[in-house]
Amino acid sequence: MNASSPQASRPTPQPHLFDLTRDELASWIEEQGEKPSHADRIFRAIYKHNRTTLMGVQNLPDRLAQKLEETFSLSPLETERVLDSSDGTRKILFRLYDGARVETVCIPSGKRMTLCISSQVGCALGCRFCYTASMGPGRNLAVSEYISQVVEGLRQAPCEYSVVNIVFMGMGEPLVNFKNLLSTLSILTDHFGLQLGARRITVSTAGLSPQILGLGEAFPVRLALSLHATTDEVRDDLMPINQRYNIANLFETLQQLQELPGQRDVAVLLEYTLIRDVNDSLEDAHRLAELAQSIRSKVNLIPYNEHPGAPYRSPDDEVLWPFMQILQQAGVRVTKRITRGDDILAACGQLAISSPRSTTTAP
Ligand code: SAH
Repeated sequence: MNASSPQASRPTPQPHLFDLTRDELASWIEEQGEKPSHADRIFRAIYKHNRTTLMGVQNLPDRLAQKLEETFSLSPLETERVLDSSDGTRKILFRLYDGARVETVCIPSGKRMTLCISSQVGCALGCRFCYTASMGPGRNLAVSEYISQVVEGLRQAPCEYSVVNIVFMGMGEPLVNFKNLLSTLSILTDHFGLQLGARRITVSTAGLSPQILGLGEAFPVRLALSLHATTDEVRDDLMPINQRYNIANLFETLQQLQELPGQRDVAVLLEYTLIRDVNDSLEDAHRLAELAQSIRSKVNLIPYNEHPGAPYRSPDDEVLWPFMQILQQAGVRVTKRITRGDDILAACGQLAISSPRSTTTAP
């Protein structure tokens, strides 16, 4: 298998038990001549009781446990490094079976723990302002690599929590890794699995129209769209994917999305990274207000995080407030994203492999 191929998706030469949805596991078990309902028991054991061996799971025949353990790995992802920010954010660097690395960020806020999950090693979309893009196309993460980020992220969370939010806003584009994303969502929301509410899960995309609808049809998760520009001219340049699905096409798609049964009361989060002299004019604010009002939406303004991989600059503070006010006066719900984890390059778009300031080593 070629590890640099975007399609490569095995976490180890051996499949991992986290790769299988409960239905897939049930089918596999049936093929072994056993009762498919054992899948429920196994899911409960590995996701609710965090078991790393199946021998001795109640009511699970030893011969089946043994066969599963011979066929599937249950080993955790290797944690290479843990970086703690002064604001409580923790970034975990995982080393995958092929030596590639991905990052997961734990962001505590009161009783809430938000896990920011990566989708790919690198990213093929080539957004010009993003740090991850500088790593090149890379490969898709396997389902087990997705799930392991959640399991390990919760295990290594920096503090107590009672509510978990998952945001697919880490490295890569989740909608390019679509099939694995859907299986991952199935395991995350499975009541025998991790049992997370779909509304606590946000999938962020640079804007792949067909998959936006496919996702909405499959799961009532929240969608975030990385908009970042109000004209096709600027967006074509910042985000090459816009040449395929332009702004008008995306908003038509979002309108269709919002008509789906699972999405009727959900707002789309429009992410807008303010980049100095590129997309931060007051005309942009007016155009953004108009776009935001064409659907049910919330706007999240993200001041651009400067990094060595791109020539762009953060906006002036003097620009930010008038920009925000124009949106508010137009009746748009708008928040400014507080930058978290800036000192460990865990902030938006800063996730890539060169992590300069290590403060903690792997447990
Ligand atoms: N590919 C998906 C998931 C990445 S999410 C997507 O594009 O939505 C990461 C978010 O941070 C996206 O909105 C991305 O555009 C934004 N971002 C990337 N680089 C950034 C930077 N340097 N400063 C601020 N936001 C950035």
